[in-house]
Amino acid sequence: MKILVINAGSSSLKFQLIDAKKKFDTLYRGIADGIGKKSCFFRAAAGKKNIFQKKVFKNHEQALKEALKILLSEKIIESLGEIKAIGHRVVHGGEIYMEAIRIDPKVKKTIKDLFHLAPLHNPPNLEGITACKKLLPNVPNIAVFDTAFHQTIPEKAYHYPIPGYLYRKYKIRRYGFHGTSHKYVSGETYKLLKKKKGKIITCHLGNGSSLSAIINGKCVDTSMGFTPLEGVPMGTRSGSIDPSIPLFLMEKENLSADEASELLNKKSGILGVSQISSDVRDILKKAKLKNKKAIFTLELLAYKIAMQIGAFAASMDGTDAITFTAGIGQNAWYIRRDICKYLSYLGVKLDAAKNKMNKEKIHKTGSKVKVFVIKTNEGLQIAKETLKVLRKA
Ligand code: ADP
Repeated sequence: MKILVINAGSSSLKFQLIDAKKKFDTLYRGIADGIGKKSCFFRAAAGKKNIFQKKVFKNHEQALKEALKILLSEKIIESLGEIKAIGHRVVHGGEIYMEAIRIDPKVKKTIKDLFHLAPLHNPPNLEGITACKKLLPNVPNIAVFDTAFHQTIPEKAYHYPIPGYLYRKYKIRRYGFHGTSHKYVSGETYKLLKKKKGKIITCHLGNGSSLSAIINGKCVDTSMGFTPLEGVPMGTRSGSIDPSIPLFLMEKENLSADEASELLNKKSGILGVSQISSDVRDILKKAKLKNKKAIFTLELLAYKIAMQIGAFAASMDGTDAITFTAGIGQNAWYIRRDICKYLSYLGVKLDAAKNKMNKEKIHKTGSKVKVFVIKTNEGLQIAKETLKVLRKA
């Protein structure tokens, strides 16, 4: 059975065709980027063939049309009828969705009602759904929410220490994001631990970064909050800072709310501290040349992530495993090394050689806490959840 996975962003459409019968193999994947802009490109990998085109796509529907056209012309499938379901990444499911759900007009309305909580994400997610409904009208659409995995966190973890009426009035609470990735890598971690129960801290460190605390498969806390700005420092996002800072800056620098938000979301984090780049690969290059800001940025990043791991270890009274994933987590061995230097009190013993080689198990034999590097696969997790919803129906 073939499942199409769609991740529609504000100016991009990522797609992946997964064969759910054959061990969830990816048959086709790609991206249309620059949708609605003057210069767009379309890139796809179909079998061993790589496709690259410069094309103008006015909207998500046009991009999807191209993706489906190539799917047929490259003979990945004989007819569109082979696509039995479409799984959509939807960023915000609010407090309503604890798991994936088949999309009907009511679900579409709810995704729309949540626009104010994810103004950059839910609107294009809905456009992706609408495009699929139009081009593949007979195929069921399933929404898989980034927030769903975190809906199990207890009130003490999601309730901010602000007046309670603000939660009731505006639903201001911790939601958490990257849930699909945390769910996938925690599932893989239990497989490596060879048990279904246990405490895990998952560290999704990419352009956006978040950590989750998981007990027996259920998320009990996560570092991102009401928005994806909270938590550890990220590529261009500050992560957690004294909440007075934006208020102070709005007054002193005469910033509007939008400008303050832009400063903390787009100009802070790794980019802001280093003033070099938001990409740790660029920072490492400069650090090797003894650039002080670059060295300091890596130091600060490892320190803040280690602090978050420490906080979650404390909140769970220990952890059995720590798992690193996403661009930084899977590749930046030097950041993992620097983080783990803070964690010997927990019983973490890192195997330096295995860590440097980005191996799956990077702890030494006898390490009380196991440390893993697991490649995240949100597309695969979306396909699995899509199948689960179909089977329940
Ligand atoms: P996203 O959050 O957009 O999905 P990724 O998970 O792909 O992003 O992470 C992107 C980030 O990961 C890059 O900005 C870079 O900092 C880091 N990264 C990617 N590849 C490497 C690598 N080989 N070595 C070190 N860091 C890497």
